[in-house]
Parts: sequence; C-alpha cells; structure tokens
Amino acid sequence: MKKNQAGNYDVAVVGAGIAGLSCANYLAQGGKKVILLEQNHQAGGCMSGFWRKGFYFDGGDQSFESNGIIFPILSELGVYPEHDWHPASYRIKTAFYDFPITSVEDTRDRMIAAFPDEPAVKVIFAEVEKVSRCFSELFDPWHFPLLEKPSPQKIFAALKWLPALKRWADPEFRNRLCGQIRREDLRHWFLNVGYYKTPFILFGAFWHLWVKDYWYPAGGIQSLMNSLVKKFESRGGETRFKTPVKKILVRDGRAEGVLTETGEKITANQVVYAGDYQRLVTDVLGETYFEPDFVEKVKRSRLTEGMLNVFLGLNLPAEELKKHLQTHHVLFYPDLKLIIPDQNSPRDVHQKMWMELSSPSLESPGLAPPGKSSLVLQTFTHIGWQNYWQNGSESGERTPEYREFKKAVGMELVKGAEAVIPGLSEKIEYLDVGTPLSAIRFTMNSQGGAGWTYHLPDLLIAGRFGFVSFHAPVAGVFTIGHYSFWPGGVPNSALSGKIVANSILGKFPEGQLHTAFELFRKVKRLF
Ligand SMILES: Cc1cc2nc3c(=O)[nH]c(=O)nc-3n(C[C@H](O)[C@H](O)[C@H](O)COP(=O)(O)OP(=O)(O)OC[C@H]3O[C@@H](n4cnc5c(N)ncnc54)[C@H](O)[C@@H]3O)c2cc1C
Repeated sequence: MKKNQAGNYDVAVVGAGIAGLSCANYLAQGGKKVILLEQNHQAGGCMSGFWRKGFYFDGGDQSFESNGIIFPILSELGVYPEHDWHPASYRIKTAFYDFPITSVEDTRDRMIAAFPDEPAVKVIFAEVEKVSRCFSELFDPWHFPLLEKPSPQKIFAALKWLPALKRWADPEFRNRLCGQIRREDLRHWFLNVGYYKTPFILFGAFWHLWVKDYWYPAGGIQSLMNSLVKKFESRGGETRFKTPVKKILVRDGRAEGVLTETGEKITANQVVYAGDYQRLVTDVLGETYFEPDFVEKVKRSRLTEGMLNVFLGLNLPAEELKKHLQTHHVLFYPDLKLIIPDQNSPRDVHQKMWMELSSPSLESPGLAPPGKSSLVLQTFTHIGWQNYWQNGSESGERTPEYREFKKAVGMELVKGAEAVIPGLSEKIEYLDVGTPLSAIRFTMNSQGGAGWTYHLPDLLIAGRFGFVSFHAPVAGVFTIGHYSFWPGGVPNSALSGKIVANSILGKFPEGQLHTAFELFRKVKRLF
C-alpha cells in the first residue's frame, strides 16, 4: 500500500452523529470491515455534549423521543442497558398559563380554562387528542409495529389512520384549524409555535411525545454517544476523530473511498455519508454528478432554524433550581408573539424571544459539582444576523468582537430567564454561548441547523414521495441522517443508518425497504 493511503475497508462511514453511529455499528455487527470518520474531536454531532469546570452541558438536543425506534435500536446494539433513563418532563409557561405537561387531556382543560371565550381551543385540542391516539396506536417507546414483521392486522391498524395523517401533514390544515381563534395574539401563537410552519402532525405529536416519550440518559447524551463508539470498536470497527472528509472518491462510476482534508486516501468498497446534504452535492461528491435542476433545488431548499444556546454553571443547588423550574424542561413564552429571526432582525431581537430552559443536572446530580447545578437556555436565531454575529463570515476566525458580542446576547437571554428563575444572573459561575457558527464547527451542518425545514413546500427536492432518500447518483454511495429521512430528528436519523446498513448487508426488512424505494425511484423516472 502506498504512503498516504489506508484501506481496504468494506465501508467508510462519514460522520459520527447518531445516524453514522447506528449504521457503523450494524455494519460491524454484520461482519463488515468498517472505518468511521468524524471531523470533530468526539462523536455525537447534534447530540454531542461537553464538560466545563465540573458542569456537563448538552450542546444540541437536550433530550429526545424514542418513537418505537431509538430504544429498540440501542437495545439491538447493546447500549440501552448501559444507561439509566429518565423521562424528560416538560412545563409550559406564558403570561396566560403555567403548568406541567402531564397529559394531553389536562393540557386541553388548562388551555380551555385560560381562554374560555375561545371555542376554537377546544376544537384544536380535540384534533391533538386524535393525533395522540394515532401515535399511541401506531407505536410506543419500544414498538413500531410496521418495522417488526408487519402482520395484516398491524397494516390494517395503520391504514385506518392514513386519511387523518394525510390531513395533518397538509401545510394548510394547521392554518385552517388554528386560524379560527379570534384573539389575534393567541391565533398568532397557535399558528406559529414550533419551528417554521410546522405542520399540524408535528404540532400535535409534540404534546403527545412530551408526556409519553421524551427521555434523558442519566450520564448526559454524550455518554450515550461514547457508548456507541465503544461498542463499534469492540465489534472490530475503527474510529478516527479530527478527520474531515474532503471528497468521496469515484472511479469508473462507483465509490472508491474517501479523501481526507490532510490528503489521505482511504479506500472502501462502499461509502455511507452521514453529513450535510448541501455540502455533499456542492462539494464532497460534486455538482457534476447531479442534474443541474436538482443542484439548484438543493441549494434553494430551506433548512431548520439555527439555535442560540446559553450554557450556565450555577452556584445554586439542584433542589433550589427545581423549585423554580419544576421540570427538566420549561418552555417559556414571555408573550404570545413568536419570532424566527433572520439576518435583518433588529439588534434586540433575542430579548423578546421564547426560550427553552433545560437542566441536565436536575435529575442527574452527578452532572454538576456538589451543591451546584447546570442550565441551558435555547432559542432560535439566524447565522447571518448582525453580520454573522459580528464575525464577518460563517467560516472566519472567531474574533474577540464575536466572543464579546455573543456573551452580551447570551446575557440578554439570561435576563429574560429571570422571569422563571429570579436572581439567575447572580448565580452564574460559568457561562458560555453557542451560536450557529459554533454548531457548524461541531456538526458541519449548513447554517448551523439540523436538517431540512419542516415545511415541505420549501424543501424543493421533496417531490411527492421523495422525502425519503438514501440515494446518491453514484454506485456504492449512500446517504443517511436527518437530511435523508424527512422530517429528520433522532429516531429517523438512527433508523436511516439501520436501513442502509441492512441494505448493504442484504437483510430483511429494512434492506428490502431500501431496494423497494430505489425501484420506485427508477419506475417513477420512466414516466
Ligand atoms: C438544539 C437541537 C435540538 C434538537 N432536539 C431534537 C429533539 O428533541 N428530538 C429529535 O428527534 N431531534 C432533535 N434534534 C435533531 C437531532 O439532533 C438531529 O436530527 C440528529 O441528531 C441528526 O443526526 P445525524 O447523525 O443525521 O447528523 P448530525 O448529528 O449532524 O451528525 C453528523 C456528523 O457528521 C460529521 N461530519 C459532517 N461532515 C463531515 C465530513 N465531511 N467529514 C467528517 N465528518 C463529518 C459531523 O461533525 C457530525 O458529527 C435537535 C437538534 C438540535 C441542534
């Protein structure tokens, strides 16, 4: 073998987020020789976390849902029993209502009580209850019957919900339903709460999932990612951190391996790419492999919102913090006005924003020094706001101006959070602020987001059924992760890794699912 050339692997997996980790583990479990390449110093991507001065913080996700997908996958891979799992509880607080989210019915009653003159609130929550019933019937944290050798009964049970699922996924449905609210500020809240133009199916599903299916591993989410790396290596897999992949190499129309940023060539028969899809098209594989029209659509498609994160180590015992928060997460809306910042938003935009307050150490005291606690504040922002956060560009050095600026904006969020935790700013022992520029460094996701928009009309490559796509137009190249399986998120990303691994291993049922999608794609192209 030549110097600067490593090989020969069966599969090179690019990216050690949940999708890459799931895929690499299944492949190694199936006997493949696999190398997992990650540009960051650790695994996790959007699910990575970090320790500072004895405090642990989750950098992206603060907890996540199983959807009948994650727990079975973690069990199959042998890491579920290595962790203690806490249900991640939620509370919602606005000037009009403030309660822990304990059931969909209780939420409905409290909302109706808060707005007795708004009959539409009852109508909306009747529909949310249907979504909750649908989700309860289709899966629970441990079972997704359609993925487990589907029986005719299971298929019938799912088919029964198809018309409703179609209705809830229609972007106009939420507008029609929530548009019935009379009060302008409340109508605005019901129409806009969540990500940009979230369809009703997701709006409804969140109320259900917050009650039944949101989880936190007691050692922090990074500990789960580390377990997946360890398991992969124990199965004979090889991991390389701090190894950005510059190019996927193609020879005679099929994958030959990858080229790293340092110029090392790693040969592999197959390449599974779990990174940003826009980068794949414009750079890592290259535009020449795609139709020009497709390239344009990929570039113009909307992404999810970037996040502003404030990480706080507090000189406040967990018991004290719990008195204020009550639950692991608090969704706090200072008023009913919801904003998604863009590059033209005013300088004070974050002072008025909603935020989620999450404390990793609330239920897991080991995640903060004795007598202290950790807190993460999160809200939407935009990468290009205030000239890339006064950094000049997304890729430039992190200037002193940038650091000072993000700290000042972070303190604005802290001030806002004092409506939930009075005197918060006096309790701060450690403070750091993450912007979309930080997220790019940890994930390489364009604009520091986490996959495509939830508003399908702005995902221009979606087509009618095209939002499931593990396809790259080169033999032996697969794509997985939140860009490949709309609407993304932890379960879909992990499942996409399993599907592609099983496809490479020729296993039932997910492998066949992939073959069926590919066949469908080819047939569709004929017409
Ligand atoms: C703040 C926040 C909150 C969220 N909350 C939830 C939630 O509650 N529920 C939920 O389901 N989902 C949530 N998500 C989304 C969820 O975290 C992601 O969809 C999921 O983790 C994506 O996993 P992935 O493996 O597809 O991609 P990523 O996590 O983005 O991982 C991709 C990995 O590939 C690496 N990489 C990329 N390009 C290269 C390259 N060229 N060379 C080498 N390495 C590369 C990156 O460094 C990264 O580690 C949230 C995301 C964020 C940011």
